[in-house]
Amino acid sequence: MGWFNQIFLPTFGINLAIPTPITSSPFFFLPSFHFLMRPPRFNQASLFHIELKHRIKTYFAETKLSPTGNSALYFKALFFIIGFVSVYIHLVFFTPHWAPALLESVILAAFAAGIGFNVMHDGAHGSFSKKEWINEMAGLSINFLGANVFMWKTKHNIAHHSFTNVADHDDDMNARPLLRLCPTQKKYSIHNYQHIYFLFVYAILYLYWVFVTDYKKYISRKVGSIAIKPMTWKEHVSFWGYKAIHALLFLVLPIYTLGFNTWIVGFLVFSIATGIFLSLVFQLAHSLEETTFPLPDQGTNQLENDWAVHQLRTTANFATSNKILSWLVGGLNFQVEHHLFPNISHVHYYEISKIIKATCAEFGVPYLEHPKMRLAIASHVNHLRNLGSRH
Ligand SMILES: [Zn+2]
Repeated sequence: MGWFNQIFLPTFGINLAIPTPITSSPFFFLPSFHFLMRPPRFNQASLFHIELKHRIKTYFAETKLSPTGNSALYFKALFFIIGFVSVYIHLVFFTPHWAPALLESVILAAFAAGIGFNVMHDGAHGSFSKKEWINEMAGLSINFLGANVFMWKTKHNIAHHSFTNVADHDDDMNARPLLRLCPTQKKYSIHNYQHIYFLFVYAILYLYWVFVTDYKKYISRKVGSIAIKPMTWKEHVSFWGYKAIHALLFLVLPIYTLGFNTWIVGFLVFSIATGIFLSLVFQLAHSLEETTFPLPDQGTNQLENDWAVHQLRTTANFATSNKILSWLVGGLNFQVEHHLFPNISHVHYYEISKIIKATCAEFGVPYLEHPKMRLAIASHVNHLRNLGSRH
């Protein structure tokens, strides 16, 4: 019952004050970490959470399904990887005319985002496969795309999933000073216009991530409020080795085959499109009018709810009846299901969403969702406008 422990006994909400090591890796050793500031505490698990875990466990027991990925997911992973490699080869070695080349750069970005959403994200959560080494391989796909899986796991699995929408702890809310994403962040006059220029910020996110924030984390040895312990020489080699592979594949080789001017146009189009695809999908889950931004009590450092209810108040779904969108974004439109059960692969979200929705209704717990993606985008824009117009 290893999978049972993996899913139902996560560190989330339990003993978060105790430094917890991230899973070890056959490829490189992941260092443990500790909190730079006292992490907020959640209330004891509610009856709602206990019942919900029981129902999801029963679902997998009755259907005899594995909570990890299935053949449909592996087919999808191959589709995105082969698609990415094919378009890359066509662009770099058989450079098309500029118009189709620009379109192909956007398609390459869509494949890159597809790998991120469907392969890397599940892999880094350990839900892609039952086999840990396959999860590690899936997680490593982000390294070939220029980012770093260890930094991602610390930022996303620990900081974001544990303390969703809690200021100073959830690093996903940190787009300062360009964007003000929660009420406790300082307001600058530029934020009056953030609902107009936010797409430009998202457009540079991928470039900034790959070429700036990863290095800032590496040098400062911290990710948000989490400090990373000193790295071993193997970890240093891994970090720089993958960054070098990325530079070779995305800078050196295409500059050699295409020339600098052609490369810079294609690379910028690819990077801007990737940044917008990634940012929009992740922002539509938490940065909305309907989601809350809870703060711990200043004296007790305690948050108002238990961990599960906290997730439901800070997370929203969008367009879950759109099967094509769900397939493309790796179930990241089912963020409620993902945040409650991050170690269950997204291929199961549609089915378990019925159980979760019914249980929320029964216990009077909110289940936030937008039926259409455009409504979620409108809510995100309104959220940015509201935060930009008031102190
Ligand atoms: Zn996640």
